[in-house]
Amino acid sequence: MNRRESVMTGGLSLLGLAGAVRRARSAVIPRKVIVVGAGISGLAAARTLVSLGHSVVVLEGRTRIGGRIATSGLWADAPVDHGASWIHGPTNNPITALARQAGAPLVTTNDNSMIVYDTAGKPLDAAGSKKLEVLRTAIEGAVTRGQNTLRTDATVQSVIEAGTAWQGRSAQDQSWMRYLINSDYEQEYGGSSNSLSALWFDQDSEFSGQDLYFTKGYRSVTDLLAQGLAIQTGQVVTRIRVQGAQVFVDTKTGTFTADRVVVTLPLGVLKSGAVQFLPALPAAKLAAISTLRMGILNKCFLRFKSVFWAEKYDWLGYIPALNGRWAEWCSLSRQTGKPILVGFNAADYGGQVEFSSDAMIVQEAMATLRRIYGATVPDPVGYQITRWGNDPFSLGSYSYIPVGAKPGMMDALAANVNRMIYFAGEATNRKYPATVHGAYLSGVRAGTELV
Ligand SMILES: Cc1cc2nc3c(=O)[nH]c(=O)nc-3n(C[C@H](O)[C@H](O)[C@H](O)COP(=O)(O)OP(=O)(O)OC[C@H]3O[C@@H](n4cnc5c(N)ncnc54)[C@H](O)[C@@H]3O)c2cc1C
Repeated sequence: MNRRESVMTGGLSLLGLAGAVRRARSAVIPRKVIVVGAGISGLAAARTLVSLGHSVVVLEGRTRIGGRIATSGLWADAPVDHGASWIHGPTNNPITALARQAGAPLVTTNDNSMIVYDTAGKPLDAAGSKKLEVLRTAIEGAVTRGQNTLRTDATVQSVIEAGTAWQGRSAQDQSWMRYLINSDYEQEYGGSSNSLSALWFDQDSEFSGQDLYFTKGYRSVTDLLAQGLAIQTGQVVTRIRVQGAQVFVDTKTGTFTADRVVVTLPLGVLKSGAVQFLPALPAAKLAAISTLRMGILNKCFLRFKSVFWAEKYDWLGYIPALNGRWAEWCSLSRQTGKPILVGFNAADYGGQVEFSSDAMIVQEAMATLRRIYGATVPDPVGYQITRWGNDPFSLGSYSYIPVGAKPGMMDALAANVNRMIYFAGEATNRKYPATVHGAYLSGVRAGTELV
């Protein structure tokens, strides 16, 4: 069991947010505000500020809005999401209400609907499935014991190895355990088990309920939030300068001035130094930026003429010979009505794969599928591949807590600087990092905090 706290009821309700906005509105001094970034946190901040009576301009570097919510229209009859796809835990989740308001069609994805194939490509039989569960219990036990006893932080991998008598185990046990570590931790948090902090990696909370998938794309939510906002796309911010009571935001094409700025740059962009702050950011914030890390999750969508896989399962797992390679697949055929599979690569291998050509990536994916479903499996009729680590407007998929970092660093990232520069974005939300709802709530928080 990990330490994630499941929020069964309550959570941060929309009503609670509305109350905060109402209280803030009564004290408002109208200001000119620039919001940097038109991802969901920037849009949420901008809407909150506009609803409080401020005048807001959103500056976005890409030629589109949405950020890591990125619905591709390449297959006109089957929109697929290169970034976020699911509402994780829809009960009391603010994104559920927004999706309903946007009229977005949603279907449940069942995490327990899964078939696992061994390295040779054979489905696990009853004994194999039982063995996998025994290994999973051993891993979870080792993590929990580590969290209860560690004096100084260590990596998730080292704690698992110490707590499961790893060295004495068979090669097959180790390979299956590597699969479980990848599937249960690396795919979710994006960080390598050799980097994730055993003490803190799962300190976050979650909403309850089966995940919901957007069959027509997540962008319906960001499109809804963007309605009526003044957004300038193609404005790549390079410098944020505070002088007296004014903020000057330089982009590659000009300078914008405002009374306040809300920065929603992804942690990866903050780490890169692509945006300069003058005066320099406080030491605690700089430490948080350099110590917290961006994880990787990449997707490879493969579209076929017809379904050849076990489509009654939502999830297909494969225990690879090499750590983390093409271990996790989701069938989108039930959810979209189209013969589409998506393969996920996370953490170390998720990063490595970005440097391969499209042709190589598709070839590797197909080698795995042919190992499972036979050599006669046809080539795909189309594919789409993500490379979030190399995307200059993201430089990673989402944040995680590595050894050496502490959850309080997310609060340091969220803290405003002299009530002039405010910060939002998934990495600033200690309770719900790395999620759409966490990013959204951080934007509402920054917007209300500014008052
Ligand atoms: C592959 C993948 C799958 C995911 N799956 C899920 C999921 O199923 N469910 C879920 O809840 N979460 C998921 N997430 C996480 C979720 O997408 C993010 O946490 C959330 O969208 C982040 O929103 P944000 O506003 O913090 O950042 P962003 O959406 O990244 O917004 C920041 C904005 O700043 C812009 N920007 C960057 N640099 C500059 C610059 N110099 N000048 C101006 N603008 C700039 C960017 O272009 C971007 O639009 C996934 C993420 C990825 C990558």
